[in-house]
Amino acid sequence: MKELEQAVLRFGKVPSDGILKVDMFLNHRLDTGLIKKMGQEIASYFKEKKPSIILTVEASGIALAITTAMALNDIPVVFAKKSSALNQGLNRYMADVHSFTKNIDYKMSVEKAYLPKGSSVLIVDDFLANGEAVKGMLKLIDLADCNCVGVAVAIEKGFQPGGDYLRQNGIDLLSLCRVKSLENNKVELYSQD
Ligand code: 5GP
Repeated sequence: MKELEQAVLRFGKVPSDGILKVDMFLNHRLDTGLIKKMGQEIASYFKEKKPSIILTVEASGIALAITTAMALNDIPVVFAKKSSALNQGLNRYMADVHSFTKNIDYKMSVEKAYLPKGSSVLIVDDFLANGEAVKGMLKLIDLADCNCVGVAVAIEKGFQPGGDYLRQNGIDLLSLCRVKSLENNKVELYSQD
């Protein structure tokens, strides 16, 4: 998506090896006009598949999940919570996840009642890197006996394996912007046209 690519090139920072910071428009300050258009783009790509729920993970996926859900006639957004003792228990679906950015393992969970059996779920997140967060959400969808209609991310880091893993496993993946490299603190994109 051209506008997102321009924002990544203009405002993206590479503070450390392999990490892209987009705090100016997506992760701290939110460019609501841009995030609205991103949600519309995702909605128009997936609308034929009639998702009934958007699933994301707190906190950085929530903004894009909401604009996507609004563009899909206001379907609900469910965000997986990152674990604390409070977020565990029999009434929750749980999945183990390794965080790439924080280099820690955590559990994500969703209250069972919010993922009713048979729902068609669209996963939305800000970044796709090694694919661990998405795999955790796929596990929750599986535990809930729901069906995943696809995955949409704002930014796929193409030099990490998450995107290829999903495509090879037949999952419909929409990446609005694909990063080719962050070497030498420079952002290089795969051009989409
Ligand atoms: P994965 O689980 O695919 O390895 O990483 C995806 C998750 O880690 C996303 O939910 C995102 O919040 C975070 N993440 C991974 N790489 C980056 C990055 O380069 N920049 C930022 N801001 N977040 C990232």
